[in-house]
Parts: sequence; structure tokens; C-alpha cells
Amino acid sequence: MLEINPHLNDLIADAQAGLQEYFGLKASTTATAPGRVNLIGEHIDYCDGLVLPLAIDRHIVIAAKTTAHDEVRIASDLSKESISFHVGAPVQPGEPRWSNYIRGVLRGFQNRGHQLPGFDAYIISSIPQGAGLSSSAALELAVATLLEGLLDTRLATREKALLCQQAEHEFAHVPCGIMDQFSSAFGRENRLVLIDCRSGIPDLVPFDNPDMTLLIANTMVSHELSDGIYAQRRKQTQQALAFLEKHSWRDVSIEELEASWRQLEEPINRRARHVVTEINRTVTAAEALAHNEFEVLGKLMAASHDSLRDDFEVSCKELDTLVEIARGIGRKGGVIGTRMTGGGFGGSTVTLCETRKSSQIADTLAAEYTKATGIRPQIFASRPSEGARLVH
Ligand code: ADP
Ligand code: MG
Repeated sequence: MLEINPHLNDLIADAQAGLQEYFGLKASTTATAPGRVNLIGEHIDYCDGLVLPLAIDRHIVIAAKTTAHDEVRIASDLSKESISFHVGAPVQPGEPRWSNYIRGVLRGFQNRGHQLPGFDAYIISSIPQGAGLSSSAALELAVATLLEGLLDTRLATREKALLCQQAEHEFAHVPCGIMDQFSSAFGRENRLVLIDCRSGIPDLVPFDNPDMTLLIANTMVSHELSDGIYAQRRKQTQQALAFLEKHSWRDVSIEELEASWRQLEEPINRRARHVVTEINRTVTAAEALAHNEFEVLGKLMAASHDSLRDDFEVSCKELDTLVEIARGIGRKGGVIGTRMTGGGFGGSTVTLCETRKSSQIADTLAAEYTKATGIRPQIFASRPSEGARLVH
């Protein structure tokens, strides 16, 4: 079953109503930030690679009003308990865990010399958490954008995204690359965000054919081991690069890798092969999109999934099941390409498909996935949507 995306205007109204109900305040400032899905270029944002994500039509909205105290109080629809902390001194990490994404962003503004006002805020979200769709980055960008509004200041988009990434590193202790925050910050309607993670420069790539859409299917599983394995994969790619005596993966060719295949040893050589081939696939994918060659893109997505499953080994049974079902539906059924997306070990798949067949594809995916696993997936469609912004 295709789940309808809640309308952004309704989320905004709900956040403002939440602020009124919870704190008795009328919102003066409201900010929104989208989640993201990565079309191709997986596990290479920390390898100087290129990634091709888009902001999705799922959002975090935060409505706020400044107060006369030096206290921040925030309630969220996802937590019964509101959080509060002082902003008179440098904000520190603390409990509960979800407050750290917010604390980290506030601290980033303090570090840049801003004196923070006290405020009350209410958060509403339509982004599933922990589903590989970057609800954490959206939360950070929503808070940073809210602060821009409350402080009547504007950061350069890139600086804002980097501030949020730093919050995720230092307050949530997740050593993420720049993809998540850049997607939520730079996303545009009808555009993919091609990010060169070596230069840190994003480029908007048209995705404006309304006959094409992206289906996002959440496996509803999130396997525990993912944190340790993420760090291990990062380390393995660093080991491989050091062995190859290169400063950047962008300077490694597949021929060079093959020449060192045996010396690199298992599984480091396969990890390296994923990085080199995935960078190439992402470059080719962006070129294919520029020429409206969707079939080429579909084949690249298939190869990307196989590489993540076999060489990088970050897929799992549930992701593979969804991908196999979508492959079974095939081109005749409207599926152009499908792959796991995000860090892996659960989370979601992304399927490029014909818009007019998306509802039927979602029905088949849901029915067959439930039959195979006993789990009901969450499936929705999205076209590229607008990045973080203040609501006027
Ligand atoms: P992902 O970013 O893929 O969704 P993460 O584990 O990185 O998964 O981030 C999820 C965390 O972000 C949640 O556990 C919670 O701490 C925080 N978060 C996400 N959405 C909200 C929300 N609406 N309100 C409060 N915290 C949220
Ligand atoms: Mg996250």
C-alpha cells in the first residue's frame, strides 16, 4: 500500500497548534527541513566520492516563540517528555539522547559568537526515524534554520550544513559524511543534489520528468550491529587507500586496484572495489540523467545494490528481499531501477519507477514482502522537494 505523504502545510499547522497547546504560545517563527534519500553513491561520501541524493517530501517542522528566560524548552510529537536546558552558558551534551542533535546545533551558533535567546518550540515530523532517510540531519537543519529566523541572521547554506554535521559528530557521536546535511540544506524541487564529497561542492541536477518517481520502501528493521560495522567499513577503506599509497579515492583506477588485488587481501580488496566502482557509477548516473537515459540509471542502481551486498557487505536479508521483489516486477511492471539506500543493515530501498504504475508497484512490494518476512513495510513515493527553509 502506498502511504500518502502528509501535506507540508498540515505539518506546519500541526506544529504551530502543538506550540499553542503545549506551551500556550503563538508561533513567531517556523522552520522546516526535509529528509533525504540517496539515489546512488552509497558508502562513498566518506571516501571523497560523489553521491546523488535528493530531499524528499517528508519533513521535520519546528514552530517556536522566544521567551524572556535563558531557557530552551522543546516538545516533540515523538516524545511524551519535553526537554529543557539553559543557553546562558555554552550548551553541553546531555539527556535525553534526541536533545543532543538540538544542543549540538545551538552550540554551533554559540561558537560562532551568537548570543542565544530563550525559546519554546514544538516539533512535528513525517520522516520515519532510523529508516535511512536522515531524520537526524533534518532535525539539525530545522533547528539551525529556526535559529536563523529567531536571531534574524543567515548563514551561507554550506556553512549551515557543516555546522549541523559538526553537531552530529560531536554531540550525537555519529561520524557521518556530508551527504545527509547537504541534501536537507541544498535540496530543491525537481532537482537531485550531486555532491562532490572531495571538494564539498553540491551541484543541482534536473529530475523534472513528472512521469518518473521514486518509491521509498522501509523494511521496518534496523539491525543492531550497524554502528560498529559502519566504523569498521570506514577503517577498511582507509587501510586500502593507505596500502594503495593514494591520498584520495578519486585518484584510484580500477586497473590499479586490480594490480594490487592479491596483496590487498580479503575482504579489503572487495571493499576497495565497491568504492572505486561506486564512484564511477555515480558519475555515469549523473551523465545519464542529463541525457534522460533512465534505463542506464536503472542498470547502475542494480549494479550498486549488488556491490553493496557482495563487496561492501552492508545489505541484509530484508533489503535483498525488497530488491528482488522489485526486480521481479521488472521494466514491464514500471520498475526502472532499485537498490538499498542509506547505511544498510535495514532501513529502506529506493526504486525508480513510472509514476503511473507506482501505486501498483507499492501494492506488490508490500504484499510479497509481508509474505516473505511477516513484516508490513512502509512505502511512499517522493519526487525531489525543497530544502530547509523558514515558513513565511
Ligand atoms: P535516521 O537519521 O536515519 O533517521 P538516526 O539514528 O541517525 O536515523 O536518527 C534518528 C534519531 O533522530 C532519533 O532516534 C531521535 O533521537 C532523533 N529524531 C529524529 N526525528 C525526531 C523528532 N521528530 N523528534 C525528536 N527527535 C527526533
Ligand atoms: Mg541519521
